[in-house]
Amino acid sequence: LDGGTGIGDDCAVVRIPKGHEALITTDLSLEDVHFRRVWHTAESAGHRCLVRGLSDIAAMGGKPRAAFLSLALPRGLPQSWADRFLRGFLKLSSQFKVSLAGGDTAESPSGVIADVVVFGSVPKGKAVLRSGARPGDSIYVTGELGGSAATLNLLSSRRKKIRPDDFPQHFRPMPRIEVGRLLRENGVASAMIDVSDGLSTDLAHLCEDSGVGAEIQIKAIPVAAIGKSARAVDLRFALHGGEDYELLFTAPRGKTVPSRIAGVRVTQIGRLIRGRKMFLLQGDLARQELLPQGWEHFRS
Ligand SMILES: [Mg+2]
Repeated sequence: LDGGTGIGDDCAVVRIPKGHEALITTDLSLEDVHFRRVWHTAESAGHRCLVRGLSDIAAMGGKPRAAFLSLALPRGLPQSWADRFLRGFLKLSSQFKVSLAGGDTAESPSGVIADVVVFGSVPKGKAVLRSGARPGDSIYVTGELGGSAATLNLLSSRRKKIRPDDFPQHFRPMPRIEVGRLLRENGVASAMIDVSDGLSTDLAHLCEDSGVGAEIQIKAIPVAAIGKSARAVDLRFALHGGEDYELLFTAPRGKTVPSRIAGVRVTQIGRLIRGRKMFLLQGDLARQELLPQGWEHFRS
């Protein structure tokens, strides 16, 4: 652990740079709610449990430093499953130089339960919040949307197994740590959130916290393409599907926002308006209200 101690003592000692403050995020992942052993490899489950927290740190413009993993495993679960789960978790954490600094294990009465805490830091007072946006600001999103949810839809509707390697958006989504850091350092983003619950829901969170409304141009939404055939997913997955872990941010009009940041595509999809409502626009032709369709609701 960078400047601290790893597993072994009674507590983890985590040092943060002078002038920084701590960012802490926690996510509970449950078997059959957040992943399924028949659909997800153990490595993918481990990866996906950790990406949720890393993405939250990215959305604040912070740097993740340490992770804590508490695992409850049902009796009879093969040890190899647990080993591969940890391998997926550690492969992702080491990519971002995040150390596994502690955790706990227990026997679960039913199903795998993974509780992940990610600890990070950001220069004092510089965290990018959801509340800093103003009417007139432009709305941007990184990467492409809908790939993860569309893959989940395939998994639930098909008997045939699909190859995880062909669907990285769902099985190995990457947190946009570098993009978040650069947006903060360069003072570009007025507000930011990660797209974990779906564009309509996460945009609604940002609008609510900033006290603004939004207009989104349907044609501007970067819709993901999935699988070997790289087929574009249905728009509803891009609008309402969760677990893409892209960043949704706003920037004052007139700020220059590059079309790629840290190698990741950045797309302007609309602008913030006065009021509290969100609208979908089809050029100048049509305007319909966009209601947040929660990922949980959408998934059921
Ligand atoms: Mg989040």
